[in-house]
Amino acid sequence: MGFFDKLKESASKAADKAKDSVEVVRLNSQVAAKRKEIEKMYLQIGEAVFEAYTSNAESAAEELIKANSATIITLKQEIEQLEIKIRTLKDEKDCVCGQVLPLDAKFCSSCGHRFEEPSEVVVQANEPVAIEAPHEAAATTERISVKSCSNCQATLQADDRFCENCGTAVEGQ
Ligand SMILES: [Zn+2]
Ligand SMILES: [Zn+2]
Repeated sequence: MGFFDKLKESASKAADKAKDSVEVVRLNSQVAAKRKEIEKMYLQIGEAVFEAYTSNAESAAEELIKANSATIITLKQEIEQLEIKIRTLKDEKDCVCGQVLPLDAKFCSSCGHRFEEPSEVVVQANEPVAIEAPHEAAATTERISVKSCSNCQATLQADDRFCENCGTAVEGQ
């Protein structure tokens, strides 16, 4: 590949990244809007309960509590979906312990949790899923290499307690 082709290629990769971060900002603002809506729902429930209590008609609040609770549950599910999308765009996933890991990590570097294959990010079941060739492992590890796994020689970060690739406990941690 010639120099200018390489230049063009890296430029289009950068454009892809830029597009992704615009999308992340857009999704984040959607999450914020939904969180605000949930706050409003809680407030309405509180007011309705108060009204019902002070007017001695406790059951009067019931309908509103039911309706708002259903809406809150839906909103929370939507937020969860958006957050999965955001992490996918950022090439990240969350461990059960709260550690944020690269999407292709097989084990958590903090608690050693094992991720099922394929990665936990599930696309809507009714959408056709494009089969993508597995990413080259080398392409995603642009981090500073400090040490490597004693078992599989994968690159480890300074604070890793477990290998992200094979789950081997890191010595001296
Ligand atoms: Zn973990
Ligand atoms: Zn390893």
